[in-house]
Amino acid sequence: MKDKMRKKQGKLRWMNQDLSLIFILILIFFLFLLSSFLNSRGEKTGESIIVKKGNNDMNTTSTKYMRAKQEWRQVLTPEQYRITREKGTERPFTGEYWNTHDTGVYVCSSCGKQLFSSEAKFDSGTGWPSFFRPIKEDSVHYEVDNTLFMKRIEVLCSRCDAHLGHVFNDGPPPTGKRYCLNSVALKLVPEEKNE
Ligand SMILES: [Zn+2]
Repeated sequence: MKDKMRKKQGKLRWMNQDLSLIFILILIFFLFLLSSFLNSRGEKTGESIIVKKGNNDMNTTSTKYMRAKQEWRQVLTPEQYRITREKGTERPFTGEYWNTHDTGVYVCSSCGKQLFSSEAKFDSGTGWPSFFRPIKEDSVHYEVDNTLFMKRIEVLCSRCDAHLGHVFNDGPPPTGKRYCLNSVALKLVPEEKNE
């Protein structure tokens, strides 16, 4: 009888060990997921190297306009920094430009590069300023963004690498693209001032 009990207890002990092993494996798996998630949205360490400061022509793409993280922190508002340098997203219907119909050119709020024309702006109903194309093809560049368990195409300023937003394939004609951007990454320069 005692033997049987001992056997049973032994069996239970093994089961417990098995369970705790499974538990540890699951824990490791989740830690792995968490760390890859944090890494993927982490800041680029390479950014702290100043490549070249911008020249006077605010619209050349040949010259990269890079600042160290500390410098960006000083020149941008905390919200601008969070969105453009840490790839954040502003809350919909809160930004300055989601419902703006003024004409002009939207420039990068970080470096002043011309990015989007009000002519390509449309009402997407999303609460974010939306455009069907950039002002020039090489005004922006793209990166694959796999965060938040989605595959999205990130849109960045081609000059200073500011995170602007994402581009989707459900936009209106003529391009069918929807550039869904953050207002704080942009600054509208009204038409008359461009002349
Ligand atoms: Zn820029």
